Amino acid sequence: MSDIRRRDPRKEWIARNRLHPRHLEVLAELGRSDGQGAASEWMGPHGLMRRNPHAVGFIGPNGVKRIDRSGVQQGQGSGGPQASTAASKPRVEIEAPAFLVAVVPDMAGGRLTGHDRDLLGLARRLADADPATPGAVLAVVFGEHKEDAFGEAGVDRLLHLAEPEVEGFAPEARLGALVAVEQAWTPRHWLLPDSKLGGADLGRRLAARLGERPATGVWQLEADAEAPSGWRCTARGAAGTLDFQRAMPRLILALAECAEPVSETHHAAQALALPEALPAQLARIEDLGQVAVDPAGVALSEAEFILSAGNGVRDWEGFHHAAEVLGATEGASRVAVDDGFMARHRQVGATGTWVTARVYVAVGISGAIQHLQGIQACDKVVAINMDPGCDMIKRADLAVIGDSTKVLEALVALVEQAREEKRNAA
Ligand SMILES: Cc1cc2nc3c(=O)[nH]c(=O)nc-3n(C[C@H](O)[C@H](O)[C@H](O)COP(=O)(O)OP(=O)(O)OC[C@H]3O[C@@H](n4cnc5c(N)ncnc54)[C@H](O)[C@@H]3O)c2cc1C
Repeated sequence: MSDIRRRDPRKEWIARNRLHPRHLEVLAELGRSDGQGAASEWMGPHGLMRRNPHAVGFIGPNGVKRIDRSGVQQGQGSGGPQASTAASKPRVEIEAPAFLVAVVPDMAGGRLTGHDRDLLGLARRLADADPATPGAVLAVVFGEHKEDAFGEAGVDRLLHLAEPEVEGFAPEARLGALVAVEQAWTPRHWLLPDSKLGGADLGRRLAARLGERPATGVWQLEADAEAPSGWRCTARGAAGTLDFQRAMPRLILALAECAEPVSETHHAAQALALPEALPAQLARIEDLGQVAVDPAGVALSEAEFILSAGNGVRDWEGFHHAAEVLGATEGASRVAVDDGFMARHRQVGATGTWVTARVYVAVGISGAIQHLQGIQACDKVVAINMDPGCDMIKRADLAVIGDSTKVLEALVALVEQAREEKRNAA
């Protein structure tokens, strides 16, 4: 068969015309006939690669087109977005690690936080520094959790301790477990988040128990041949007013954004067990459980869950009621504040408060750059908006396209129904 490329101008025209009813079909056909798997990219008649940006992405469950801006096409295959992402990344197995880098993530809410993922990224840098003698990243996780992406976050070995004595606020039992890890495997590095969610406290206790001076407030690591560990770290001190450098010690308490989280590889997260049962601890601390606080009294900068209102909120009574039912702290866009619907101290954004919530729900907020700046450290963003093309929807991890009043009403009804069912079941 001749390998002369035959052109079909009509099909090429349909391929360029995305409003044509046969557009996707023809694109796929052209992709196949050129031996390309993806219709978003094919070789043109002159041998140049052609890209069709409209064929990038996939249609989500609500009929809205989603584009994965990380560059990894999601939503295909039977395993759902996460499975396809994991499958498309190279899998890394470290059979016989030369050393261990132990990480103790906060796991707030039973999942890896953004801070935890940064820390695992830092651990990977330490473990992978010398490709000839790779180390393994060991995550020590306490209590029940809901996380299923340890491998994607860079974990090679996972020690999950779910004994009742390490649940809740149990620094003595957790410290005992970390000492057992130290005795069993003597990690080359210990990394904990320098966070108020528990890492800062546990890390300092561990340092005291091991009799080692930790580096706290670390936000940067650099290779340094002259330092005994081969690394120099930059840490924030003097109440955040000074940065100072020192040779990196074995125990590090690092700040958020200390490293890029792992995104390119998928690791084994192989389960490990301690060789012996956890040692009994003399418990001087009794955990009486969490105390309910009024979310309205929580400062925006410290709130974990924020329901934020913008110019798209029509029913303000309904918005306040939803915040109360959901137990969320209220935030607002500048327009909502300028229009007098919300107090000035509730404004989120460049000229308001920079928030670090684990969940940020933006109700009728368009996503102006000044607002997005204020929410860049949030873990999960949910957008409720009428406009599927607005910037907040592009930023969001989950988007609901619809009228804010109706969506909030439906949400409140669902939560109240779930609570009712729970009460009846009890
Ligand atoms: C120097 C400077 C500093 C600024 N600092 C800040 C800041 O710190 N924080 C801040 O927020 N802004 C700030 N702004 C203002 C910012 O540029 C935007 O004007 C503002 O964020 C827009 O607020 P909004 O999204 O609530 O309103 P709009 O831009 O009007 O958006 C309203 C959104 O609601 C949606 N909508 C409408 N009706 C409904 C409905 N019924 N249901 C659901 N959705 C609906 C619309 O589709 C739209 O997306 C600053 C501006 C300047 C110039």
